[in-house]
Amino acid sequence: MRVANQSGRLKLVLGDTVVDVEAASGGRFSSQPQEIFDRWEEFLAWARTADTTEASPLQPSELGPPVPRPGQIFAVGVNYADHVEESGLTLPDTPFVFTKFPASITGPYDTIEHPGGSVDFEVELVAVIGKHARHTPVDLGWDHIAGLTLGQDLSERDLQLSGPPPQQFNLGKSFSGFAPIGPMLVTPEEFPDRDDIGVSTVLSGELMQSSRTRHLIFSVPALVAFLSSIVALRPGDLIFTGTPAGIGFTREPRRLIGLDDELISRAEVIGEMRHRFTPTQRPHPITAAEKADNHV
Ligand code: ZN
Repeated sequence: MRVANQSGRLKLVLGDTVVDVEAASGGRFSSQPQEIFDRWEEFLAWARTADTTEASPLQPSELGPPVPRPGQIFAVGVNYADHVEESGLTLPDTPFVFTKFPASITGPYDTIEHPGGSVDFEVELVAVIGKHARHTPVDLGWDHIAGLTLGQDLSERDLQLSGPPPQQFNLGKSFSGFAPIGPMLVTPEEFPDRDDIGVSTVLSGELMQSSRTRHLIFSVPALVAFLSSIVALRPGDLIFTGTPAGIGFTREPRRLIGLDDELISRAEVIGEMRHRFTPTQRPHPITAAEKADNHV
């Protein structure tokens, strides 16, 4: 099953048509895409037998993020061996986790504000939680996933890597619009192999990243097990699972996202996102006068 957020309303996707969930369910389910994850099992059961005769065209330009207001976003760094190597880091023993703040979420075809600096691309498979998880064993990890979508972990490297450790990963990856997801959410059984999904990035016609999720160091169920051993994962939360090799920042020469670029992200079965950029101002520069001199 596929669901999308079209014009802010939850839709079942059937080929190139959509069915409005609130209307087709006679108001049993809300039109709000974020609310469905609290009732995911019930929704799945309904969707299997839903009356889908009142379909209308899928309008890609009207698609928003399939999960517009996640409570939590977990993002995993250095989760492909080839990306670990290009980053000059060593293979992690446990997942390296940061967040993208939820207000950075945007849709699959939106124009994204470009704050200058070193804006880079990271195509990623994104897992959406569909069932509360706490101390979930790895072999039950997939049972807690509602579906999968495609994401870009856009990153402004200057801010991300600024200052002495610990650096500003969370902020550098959370500029407004830096967490585009979409174009839809696809349930795991739709994939020929849910653990082996091709993902790629094309920047202004040039293939920059291409890999498969079977190369993940920590798989989706392993991430559910690890994260849920620390904090509860709740319906509608997101896990950005990490990016493969080919990012722009470590290329020779460097290839970052400019204002004239078109960024295309793809994932097998899920589809593609297309993004363009518009300038915005740089982060507020903290002055000496704004910093209290109260250290000991
Ligand atoms: Zn990433």
